[in-house]
Amino acid sequence: MASIFSKIAAGEIPSYKVAADDKHYAFLDINPVAPGHVLVIPRKETDYIFDIDDKEYQEYTLFAKRVAQALKEAMPCKRIGVAVMGLEVPHAHIHLIPMNSESDMNFKSKVTLPAEEMEAIAAAIAKKFDELNKA
Ligand code: AMP
Repeated sequence: MASIFSKIAAGEIPSYKVAADDKHYAFLDINPVAPGHVLVIPRKETDYIFDIDDKEYQEYTLFAKRVAQALKEAMPCKRIGVAVMGLEVPHAHIHLIPMNSESDMNFKSKVTLPAEEMEAIAAAIAKKFDELNKA
C-alpha cells in the first residue's frame, strides 16, 4: 500500500506544495516546529533514507539543497536546519527548518499556523524556487 507521502506526492492527499520535479516533491510539514518547516521526499518510496541507492541519493539531496536555497530567501533566517528522523512516516523525508536559534530545531515544540498563513508561506517558497531554478 502506498505511503501517506506517496499519496501526497501523487496529489491524492492535499498538501502545501513548495517544489517538485519528476523524482521529488517538497511540501510544508503539517505540524511545523517553525514557520516554513518543509519536508522533501523522493517520489519513489523507500522507508530508510540510507537505503536509497547512491545516484538517487545524490539527486535527492541536490534537490533538497535547491529547496533549502529557496526557503532561505523566502523565509529570511540565519540558517536552514536539516534533520532526518523517519520514526513516524516510513517514507524517506528530509526536514528543512528556517532557524535563528537552536530552539527553532526543537521537535517537541510545535507552532500552529492558520491555513491562510501556511498557503502564503508555501506560495512564497514556491515562487523563490521557480525564480532560482528557471531554465
Ligand atoms: P518523522 O517520521 O519522525 O520524521 O516525522 C514525520 C513528519 O511528518 C512530522 O513532522 C509530521 O508532522 C509530518 N507529517 C505527517 N503527516 C503529514 C501530512 N499529511 N502532511 C504534512 N506533514 C505531515
